[in-house]
Amino acid sequence: MALLNEHFLKLKAGYLFPEIARRVRAFCEAHPDVAPRLIRCGIGDVTEPLPPAAIAAMHRAVDELAARETFHGYGPEQGYEWLRATIAEHDFRARGCEVADDEIFVSDGTKCDMGNILDIFGAKNKIAIPDPVYPVYVDTNVMAGHTGPANAAGAYAGLVYLPCRPANGFVPEPPKRHVDLIYLCSPNNPTGAVATREQLEAWVRYALEHRAVILFDAAYEAYIRDPALPHSIYEIPGARECAIEFRSFSKNGGFTGVRCAYAVVPKTVNGHTRAGVAHPLHPLWLRRMTTKFNGVSYITQRGAEALYTPEGKAQVRALIEHYMGNATVLREGLQKAGLRVFGGVNAPYLWVKTPRGLSSWDAFDKILREANVVVTPGAGFGARGEGYFRLSAFNSRANAEEVARRLQAMRW
Ligand SMILES: *Cc1c(COP(=O)(O)O)cnc(C)c1O
Repeated sequence: MALLNEHFLKLKAGYLFPEIARRVRAFCEAHPDVAPRLIRCGIGDVTEPLPPAAIAAMHRAVDELAARETFHGYGPEQGYEWLRATIAEHDFRARGCEVADDEIFVSDGTKCDMGNILDIFGAKNKIAIPDPVYPVYVDTNVMAGHTGPANAAGAYAGLVYLPCRPANGFVPEPPKRHVDLIYLCSPNNPTGAVATREQLEAWVRYALEHRAVILFDAAYEAYIRDPALPHSIYEIPGARECAIEFRSFSKNGGFTGVRCAYAVVPKTVNGHTRAGVAHPLHPLWLRRMTTKFNGVSYITQRGAEALYTPEGKAQVRALIEHYMGNATVLREGLQKAGLRVFGGVNAPYLWVKTPRGLSSWDAFDKILREANVVVTPGAGFGARGEGYFRLSAFNSRANAEEVARRLQAMRW
């Protein structure tokens, strides 16, 4: 008899996106005449084609693999040196952050990294997770057996939920109690909030005091436009002693289907044995990656490298400006409709308060029925997402403008 990992059985069934798909399918079957009018503003996937610089670099890389003299087989598990050096230089050292080339670990995605990182942490940590947030942090901890069962509201026993609400600008403050592992996501999915320098300083202070580790998800870093906002947690003194940062090429270079990301594990971040002995996490993550991973494809890494060339940078900037132009169109449309909108300024997501106390699923159904637009119900991101819905700026401009028109025409 093969025993299974029973922690999987604690996961809440009917996860967000399958439920959205089910409701959309039912609506389209009942109303085949309006189905072609449907506009999806729900899923957090990019819509625009890849930057030409990345395309050209990947074509060249394929040609290299076609000749014996330039062929590449297995590369280093943690990424090619030329890509790690480019990342460390452009994303960190150029911004005044001390990060060494060999502290960069190239991977096939931040989603994967954030799940895999739990391999190097013990099972008895107190884990703090913002609410609402990207559901991967909670679910990977459930799978790893770090929680008890979920209650009726979907909150798992043993996790410390950090409430994100209008009063704190949707950026959680450090808890009064002790925790060991802290998830932060800035710019935030789903709320679009970005942590200020002061807010990150408070977290770094807390982490150093509690010997905690911060897992900092900066997948949307490229969307920050306000020059006062930090792009990396390593802009905060002390972060090199307590934080691991995660970045992805999914939302800047549009690599959601290509798959490339990286984690920064400074050699100065320690974990502790149960006896209280400090041990650096860097060699553990290196060992984990070299044992369980065989590297991102050569082609993909050449594509990622090309995003740092002058042409690549300009093309990424144009992509971001396109999506942020959509965010502005949507934001103004929602405001004209009289709705209370957060985010959409330094992030490609708008977080919208449902009017008249509508539940987030009721708002979802109403918008689907009356505007034929698919949004994401806030409750899918955590109990405190109830009463909100998320609108994504990943779309064509024409679609964003049409969505803004339709939301204004609705009877709220
Ligand atoms: C999209 C997204 C990522 C990116 O994940 P990849 O696996 O690199 O595509 C990471 N974190 C958040 C919060 C995201 O929304």
